Amino acid sequence: MRLVSYYSDQGPRTAALRGNDVVDLQAANPLLPSSMRELLAAGEAIWPQVAAAAANGAGKPLGGVRLAPPVPDPRKIICIGLNYADHAKETGVEPPSEPVVFNKFLTTLIPHEQPIALPAVSPEVDYEAELVAVIGKGGRHISAERALEHVAGYTCGNDVSARDWQKNKPSKQWLLGKSFDTFAPCGPVLVTADEVGNPEDLRIQLRLNGQTMQDSSTSQLIYGIAHLVSYLSQVVTLEPGDLLYTGTPPGVGMARKPPVFLQPGDLVEIEIERIGLLRNRVVAEAISR
Ligand code: MN
Repeated sequence: MRLVSYYSDQGPRTAALRGNDVVDLQAANPLLPSSMRELLAAGEAIWPQVAAAAANGAGKPLGGVRLAPPVPDPRKIICIGLNYADHAKETGVEPPSEPVVFNKFLTTLIPHEQPIALPAVSPEVDYEAELVAVIGKGGRHISAERALEHVAGYTCGNDVSARDWQKNKPSKQWLLGKSFDTFAPCGPVLVTADEVGNPEDLRIQLRLNGQTMQDSSTSQLIYGIAHLVSYLSQVVTLEPGDLLYTGTPPGVGMARKPPVFLQPGDLVEIEIERIGLLRNRVVAEAISR
């Protein structure tokens, strides 16, 4: 199934895509939850009812709604750094001997078509196309063998990064450089795992103003999704709707000669096979104090 969240007058609501229509799940079946996190928390038992609602509910044109991030209110955004060997090489470091993990503040999250705001304090803002795994069933101490049972589906993400802030802070902490508001575009669609097939065999591309900048495959991931879910769950309780940004392939702007950084008016498109296309315009930050 292909699921979205969209903004209604009452806040975000969950819907299924049926062709080019969105079908509000709770409107189709009042027993279904209105929020994506609750839907994911309900587990597999609910999917037959979701499928029935998606098939039979009233649709409205996708073009007539404003999409929210697929999970509008995740409890965590966890990110993996340097998870493609060629990308590690272009940044001048050895592929890591265990996963490099950081996070983004929740105020980074924006949907498809909402602009990325370039902060006034950074001239070195970069893009990173990433496959995002969305946690379904939560848990702790999850084995690698069972880890994929905890992934509800996948979507597209952009791990936008202010390179000057990322690299020049004490102790090499990435948090601030990765956490300016709007630095986590996500969406537009959460494609359920059963429809994706093998998540580690998907073409992943990024185009900047129509020019291809990244073009790789998730088959090149150093640490696969099952390993990452298991590894992280040694430390934190994974919860329904948590987002896992799995790392970016080569071709980022900072590694280019000369470097390419995002400018107002740029258009960033991330396309992942079988998942969809995430598009965000870039604007200068509007500062109001
Ligand atoms: Mn990244």
